[in-house]
Amino acid sequence: EYTPFSITNRRLFNSKDVVADARRHNAHHAKQLIGDALRDRVSSIDGDICDVGDEDTFFVADMGEVYRQHMRWKLNLPRVKPHYAVKCNPDPMVLRLLAEMGTGFDCASKAEIEQVLKMGVDPSRVIYAQPCKTKSYVRYAAQNNVNQMTFDNADELHKIKQLFPEAELYLRIATDDSASLCRLSLKFGATLDSANELLQLAKGLDLKVVGVAFHVGSGASDPNAFLKAVTDARWVFDQAEGHGFNMHTLDVGGGFVGETFEAMAAVLSGALDAYFPQHVRIIGEPGRYYVSDAFTIATHVIARRTVSDKSLDSNSYMLYLNDGVYGNFSSIIFDHQHPVPKILKNGNVFKHESTAGNDGVALTEYSIWGPTCDGIDCITSSCTFPEVINVGDWLYFESMGAYTKCSATRFNGFTDKHDCIYVSSEPGASALLDL
Ligand code: PLP
Repeated sequence: EYTPFSITNRRLFNSKDVVADARRHNAHHAKQLIGDALRDRVSSIDGDICDVGDEDTFFVADMGEVYRQHMRWKLNLPRVKPHYAVKCNPDPMVLRLLAEMGTGFDCASKAEIEQVLKMGVDPSRVIYAQPCKTKSYVRYAAQNNVNQMTFDNADELHKIKQLFPEAELYLRIATDDSASLCRLSLKFGATLDSANELLQLAKGLDLKVVGVAFHVGSGASDPNAFLKAVTDARWVFDQAEGHGFNMHTLDVGGGFVGETFEAMAAVLSGALDAYFPQHVRIIGEPGRYYVSDAFTIATHVIARRTVSDKSLDSNSYMLYLNDGVYGNFSSIIFDHQHPVPKILKNGNVFKHESTAGNDGVALTEYSIWGPTCDGIDCITSSCTFPEVINVGDWLYFESMGAYTKCSATRFNGFTDKHDCIYVSSEPGASALLDL
């Protein structure tokens, strides 16, 4: 039986175990909904006669998953107000749902700020969390009352002094992100050694430093990275207060991953309570956490090449899809992901997974490629299925919501715009979005 996951449901919120059970259960319900949407769409397309582009890749997005993740966040990190990192997936429906649920937004560019403000979000809910900003974007932020922004170097302070001296500034500090999927502190973040000098400069320029920001790296795996970053931030807070700044906010960044979220949140919560008294406002910038599992992508097999191996007396196949690493599978290159193909045909959605084992069923080996001319455009170099995949069949891949379509290109003339079918496995999300 399906249990709607709701923040108003006290029974659910009394126990983390009950919540975990409900999440598992509702994720199952979500799979059925997503499966139906995939099947309906695919069965409406006849590759032999369809118009150009009708067989293009498409997404199915479950807004219920985004909703559940928000409930889970509130349960485990009640002190931390999430500011969704728009860069991760600027899908308009995701932004609308999060705006309705009251989150803030982390924007990295003028376009992201504009997209969020155009939805009617108050500029006080936006942080321009990019320590190295384009000058005209800073002017745009100033004109639109987006006051909060990060910095991590002296030149940026001079830039802000010139363009937006009233801005509320967060000193971004470097972290130990060696255990993360995508390291960010190689590029951003002041070292503790330089923090004092920067604070002194900000004071001399009569700028307003109000907080500290950090990011432990996207796809973080070591909870202790949070503990260390929080203690470092405490040290910088103390230095800043020593310089006379009124420090009121700590920004703990993103890096949260679904599988390890509870463990991360427990360490982070403990550290926050130990080092930052309750009057300090805490915000976060989760991206991947909210959207990764909410998006499933369906792709069309446009071509197939048989690879004969006479010594094995069997064939393997190269499959060519209408999407690849230059498109929505950009996450393979930029985000170190390994999307797992599953077969979507004849109504068998969510039944056939690629198998490595051998249960007596003969397995056929495939490599899976994107549609462009480039040899790097490979989705997976080897996977096996217990059945034959033909030209015209469809494959689908789950957990394709983070750092996928946002970094797709149009290389070789392929489109970077793909349909998204929205479903909702949570009544709470359905009500907020009229789904
Ligand atoms: N905040 C900043 C400044 C970032 O650069 C990123 C990702 O690059 C994020 C937040 C989101 O990180 P994640 O998706 O790991 O939560």
